[in-house]
Amino acid sequence: MLLLPCVTVCCSFSLPSVDTPSIYAVAQESAEAEAPAGIVMEGLTVDDEKAIETNKESFVFQAEVNRLMDIIINSLYKNKEVFLRELISNASDALDKLRFLALTASDMLGETKDLAIKVSFNDKLKTLTIRDTGIGMTRNELINNLGTLAKSGTKKFLESLSEGADIGLIGQFGVGFYSVYLVADRVRVVTKNNDDDQYIWESTADSSFSIVKDPRGNTLGRGTEITMFLKEDASEFLSQQRLEEIITRHSEFITFPIYLHKKTEQVVEKEVAEEDAAEKKTTEDGLEVEESDEEEEKKVEKKTEKVESWDWHLMNGNVAIWSRDKDEITDEEYQKFFRVISKDPTDAASWIHFKAEGEVEFKSILYVPAEALNLYDEYSNRKPGIRLYVKKVLIQDDFEDLLPKYLNFIRGVLDSDDLPLNVSRETLQQHKLLKIMGKKLVRKVL
Ligand code: ADP
Repeated sequence: MLLLPCVTVCCSFSLPSVDTPSIYAVAQESAEAEAPAGIVMEGLTVDDEKAIETNKESFVFQAEVNRLMDIIINSLYKNKEVFLRELISNASDALDKLRFLALTASDMLGETKDLAIKVSFNDKLKTLTIRDTGIGMTRNELINNLGTLAKSGTKKFLESLSEGADIGLIGQFGVGFYSVYLVADRVRVVTKNNDDDQYIWESTADSSFSIVKDPRGNTLGRGTEITMFLKEDASEFLSQQRLEEIITRHSEFITFPIYLHKKTEQVVEKEVAEEDAAEKKTTEDGLEVEESDEEEEKKVEKKTEKVESWDWHLMNGNVAIWSRDKDEITDEEYQKFFRVISKDPTDAASWIHFKAEGEVEFKSILYVPAEALNLYDEYSNRKPGIRLYVKKVLIQDDFEDLLPKYLNFIRGVLDSDDLPLNVSRETLQQHKLLKIMGKKLVRKVL
């Protein structure tokens, strides 16, 4: 991942900024200057905005989604920061999907080979942006995924909310995206999937959303960029310390690099230019002469000034926790990882981290959730909770056939170097090694 610094000096003069061939350069320039009139989002000119306005198509949200958004945007829920966890989790899912498809179709990556998540903010425009280079969405997927298709989770979440459930559980119901309306009253999603043009989705949560082909063409390469126009009471998310704190707290186990666009200030010493420092001396006959070299050196002044630089800072280790030595992992880290994979905000009751060796080798962490007893009630309808990785690439997050149905409440990961990477999920499902793995898992769980 390239770090592209954009340097400005905060004093009476500024250094030219380093050329940054991405929308982030624009982001930074506008963060430094006052927002130009009419510009509401980085990288879009007034003409682009006009084109969007003229060409956009409007859609009505599915009724339950509409109700959900209404509740979220008007809620007084305190723990608003959950939106960032949800967006980073979605970005990570999108990157996982892409990485999986790229196993069998190497041209999927195209020129956008960096698989990463980038978070940036602009305190003049009061926007927060999260971008990933994942799978992106086609126009149809945008319409279906973010608005018009009914999801079973929406109804269930609405029911749970009316029974007093915490909004922070939103991710468990498969509607995490809408948590952006906890902090924003307007959201724009720009997305590019390999099979379609770049599209813009936008909604002010007023029961409708719009879709338009991006008048700029393909600026993302591939992936998704979500820009939130923050509400007045959400300005804390324009503070880089706050963002850093949230990102590290919720997302340290995400296996893709997460970068935050951060400003750092340095005080540097600067010698005042020779010419200014060399004082002229007037002789008796009125001629000006310069002082001798020795005296001149003494008079060179040193001043200090603050230099600001904006760089992308890596926020997470992105090392898969299961490949670390278990003696070096704290209980708190295991619990945090459980929350990431299960989307369950409560702690796990117990877990086991082991490495299987012999006829098949793999690493695994298996968790028993605190509410395992309730989960057991409807075990045959539950989705399995084991994420299957091959050489750290996520193959599927609800892999069937590894554990018997009555253990569907178990959450965990399994990563093996012995399984083939470049086969379909169906072929993998038939692989004889999976049976052996499954047996080993059951023994460990029991
Ligand atoms: P969930 O992620 O649990 O399915 P969400 O409401 O968070 O539910 O997201 C809805 C859908 O929108 C996702 O399933 C996915 O298809 C799509 N989506 C959301 N964020 C992204 C993203 N960053 N990249 C690609 N697709 C996304």
